[in-house]
Amino acid sequence: MQGSLHRLALRNIRLVAGFYLLVLIVMTHWPKLQIVTDGQPIDKLMHFIGFGLAACAVHVAQWCVRWWVLLLVMFGFTFLDEVTQATLSIGRVYSFADIVAGWLGVLVVVALAVAFRPMGGACSRLRGQQWLDGAASLLARPSPWMIIFMSGALGALVGGVILVTLDGYYPRPHPARAMLLGGLVGSLGLAHWTFEGGLRRELRLIRQQRRCAGCGAPQEAEGLSEDAMLSCPTCGRENRVIDWAPQTPLSKGLLIHAIFRPLLTSGFCLLLLVVFWGVMVGFRNDPRVVDFDLWWRQMGYESQAVMDLTVGGLLAALTINGFRRRVAKAVDLQASRCLACGQDLHGLPTSGGFGRCPECGQWFSKIESDVCSPS
Ligand SMILES: [Zn+2]
Ligand SMILES: [Zn+2]
Repeated sequence: MQGSLHRLALRNIRLVAGFYLLVLIVMTHWPKLQIVTDGQPIDKLMHFIGFGLAACAVHVAQWCVRWWVLLLVMFGFTFLDEVTQATLSIGRVYSFADIVAGWLGVLVVVALAVAFRPMGGACSRLRGQQWLDGAASLLARPSPWMIIFMSGALGALVGGVILVTLDGYYPRPHPARAMLLGGLVGSLGLAHWTFEGGLRRELRLIRQQRRCAGCGAPQEAEGLSEDAMLSCPTCGRENRVIDWAPQTPLSKGLLIHAIFRPLLTSGFCLLLLVVFWGVMVGFRNDPRVVDFDLWWRQMGYESQAVMDLTVGGLLAALTINGFRRRVAKAVDLQASRCLACGQDLHGLPTSGGFGRCPECGQWFSKIESDVCSPS
């Protein structure tokens, strides 16, 4: 059992996710809905973003937990939505290119969901669980949602205006596309920034007030050692006293070391793609080879933008995946190497699986099994 805070937070997430899916279905079936763009369509970009966000909503709402189920269900949803759009509503046409754009959006989101999955052993999952407990505590209440939504709306406005202004200096300005992309990036960016700020504050309050991770009730833990367990009188959840101690920060050196190789790998993948493209374009007069250059030019600016976003999104997922795997490995090996300062911690005394670094005074844990999981 995860506790009532987790249930409340999930209920709120499902309300918002369900509302988004409903709006998406209604918008895609609305008769003769045309986004005014002065003859420059942004339909495929809208499909890419709309169905990508739908996959994100279904994932966060935990309706499809396994990545391949999420991928198959959302591919099917995108296809069905487009087909019923053509058969049920007047004035809208069925377009296979729109379906492909939607699928690419779903693909990028599923790749990102895989990259952000829980990773590593007991110590990594413990850190992840603390993050989840903080997020549940925050999202269980309605007021943080309102603040996150308002900052998202503000971000959409600011990001849209900035990108439309910048786009105006471009040789081929496209205000609708600039508005859409700027709005999306601004909205997601500012909403995420607000969420992170709220989460940091929540984690600080949880530590200060020693709140139960299940129900949020403050606990009396005076005089208990860090390795003790404390049963919550309100909900009965076993809380570990160590979880109220500050989390050991990861040193900059560790983070740079963890990002270096994944960045190099992604850069290499991009280089391979560019070289492959160059070779194909070089052979474009050969009738046995597909003319990539012609195909690319015929695709139009909008589809090109969708392709750019797909390649960029997949490379970002690859980088994040490698980075998180490396960080998880370092976190799991924290009993031999301090996370904050890199000090060798081999053979140092621990009590109940915890010890302190003699160099910087930060905590390290030596847990082998998943002791943190609530019953
Ligand atoms: Zn409790
Ligand atoms: Zn240290």
